[in-house]
Amino acid sequence: MTKLKYFLVFLTLIITVNAMDIFNFFRKSENTETQDTIGSHLKKVNPSKTNWKEKTDEYWKESMTPLQYNVTRHEGTERAFSGKYWDEKRPGVYHCSGCGHELFKSDTKFKSGTGWPSFYDVVTKENITLKTDKRFGMTRTEASCARCGAHLGHVFEDGPKPTGLRYCINSVSLVHSEDIETKAE
Ligand SMILES: [Zn+2]
Repeated sequence: MTKLKYFLVFLTLIITVNAMDIFNFFRKSENTETQDTIGSHLKKVNPSKTNWKEKTDEYWKESMTPLQYNVTRHEGTERAFSGKYWDEKRPGVYHCSGCGHELFKSDTKFKSGTGWPSFYDVVTKENITLKTDKRFGMTRTEASCARCGAHLGHVFEDGPKPTGLRYCINSVSLVHSEDIETKAE
């Protein structure tokens, strides 16, 4: 009887821990070597001539690293200071890691201290879709790619001038222009 009781307590604990997404939290880390492969599927296609909205969940799962898939397709969050670009200083353009769409420019990137790449502006407003996200008991503005729907991160109103905005973006949702190779035709 006691054994059964312990087993039930153990089982409840496992279910609770799973429900709390703790295991996911530990999984949401990937070394930067793995992150170097992000965007490599773009070499096989002409990103501007592809219908990205038609791509299936299987396509994304096969084309992406596990963390990138989790973040961009299931609104996950990479661990702070674990991504490739939080401290990136090279000049260039940051593209969507799903479809290669231009999203941010390096001259609007700033040091936020959060551990995620942060920008105060976008390349063009049309390239990013904003919507209210009420998960986890918070009201936040979610930013996603307008072309392929990839989850990018969130936008906060505590950024620097001139916009006062802080686009807090996951590294795995981005590919810097020097790290991206796409098929022209
Ligand atoms: Zn995209």
